[in-house]
This record gives sequence, C-alpha cells and structure tokens, in this order.
Amino acid sequence: MKTAPDLLRAVGSLFYPPTCEGCGTSVGTDEYLCEECRSRAPRIVAPFCTKCCEPFSGAITGPFACSNCADQTLYFEAAVAGYRARGIVRRLIHEFKYRNRFYLRHVIGDWIGAVLEDPRMNPHGFDLIVPVPLHPAKQRERGFNQAAVLAQTLSKRTLLPVGKALERVRYTKTQTAFDRAERMQNLRHAFRLRPRMDVQGLRVLLVDDVLTTGSTLSECARVLKKAGASSVYAATAARA
Ligand SMILES: [Zn+2]
Ligand SMILES: [Zn+2]
Repeated sequence: MKTAPDLLRAVGSLFYPPTCEGCGTSVGTDEYLCEECRSRAPRIVAPFCTKCCEPFSGAITGPFACSNCADQTLYFEAAVAGYRARGIVRRLIHEFKYRNRFYLRHVIGDWIGAVLEDPRMNPHGFDLIVPVPLHPAKQRERGFNQAAVLAQTLSKRTLLPVGKALERVRYTKTQTAFDRAERMQNLRHAFRLRPRMDVQGLRVLLVDDVLTTGSTLSECARVLKKAGASSVYAATAARA
C-alpha cells in the first residue's frame, strides 16, 4: 500500500536522490538507510535473558533469568526483540510513532523481521499473530497502531494470519514514570478479548514495537491465556 508520505518520497526522488533516514547521505531508490546506519543499529546478540531478551554483558553459557524477570511474573513464554532501543533505533521508532513518518515502517519492519532468525520464532510454532492494541482514542490521534503495522510485516514474511484478538478498554497513563507495582496496577483491566474472537487452543505470536519491562506484553499474554490460548510468545522490533 502506498500512502501519501510514500508517494511524496517517491515523487521527490524524481527530483532529488533519496537520502538515508539516519544521516542524510544519498541511497538507492528503494533504500531508507545507508550501509553504515544499517550496521549502526544495535542488534541483540547472545548472551541474553531467555525470557525477556535482556542482554547480558559478560561470559555466560546456558539459560539464566535476568533481574527484570526474577521479580515479576511474566505470562508470555518468551519475548524476542531484534535490536536495542538505542541510537538510531530509538530515534527512528520515535519518529515513526510521534512524527507521522509512516514510511519508516519499512525500516522498523526490517528490524522486527530480524526476530525470525531466532529458532523460537519458527513460523510453524504459531497459528496467529496478534498485535498489542492501542486505545481507540490514541489510535485516532496517531492515525495508526504501530503494533498492527509490524504484525502485517511479520505476516507477510511468515504467511501467518493476523487477528486483532485484543482490545484496549482503558486509556492508561504512560508507563514510564511508574515503578513495577504501579505499572501492573495501571495495566489492570486495560485489555480484553474482542467480542466473538476465539483463541482457544491457539499458539499466539504477540507483536509490539518496543519491549520496556515486558509488563504490557505480559498483561496481553495473561488475557490471551485466560481465553484459552495454548502458548504466547512475543516479538518486538526493539528492547529498551
Ligand atoms: Zn546513513
Ligand atoms: Zn529477563
């Protein structure tokens, strides 16, 4: 689907060569990042927490639980993130969501696509991709749900169907200023299964743009499992 900013960029490239979204040097017609900016995006590599993908610096072999996971119950089986939300990754995700630069979904789509390299993300292990929903008021304000956009990207690459199984029924305050207990309280009853949706026995791949502590993904996983989902894994483009 070509949208207005896409078309503007395409038309603009007839007159000006396309430039890298990271540094402004010229790039090929269908490229959004130059080689160097692409390589500057910090990929999450082992060792990392097997549950929430928190990278661990130092030598460690075998599974371990990080401190983020040790003191909270996370309802998803595991969350896999492609990149660290640092530098260019953090900046472009922010511009995608808050600066109306919808075409950056191509860049961020590649970042979430990287999760498919993780053996736990084998498409045969899933029945349905479910995006983390936005509250309707927030979605109207932003114009799109970034999680739903990324769910479509993963669907194209895995041929798994997308089902908007969840809805956000409470407009929650932004989580960042809260400690862990407050965050869980803030999320209580924020999500529910949409009417007429059935996830009974399904293996769900839950999708969002960024994992911060995992509490939002965990609350969504809790609701899906309560509704009968047999497993819930989560995928995000980035991890704080
Ligand atoms: Zn660049
Ligand atoms: Zn962890």
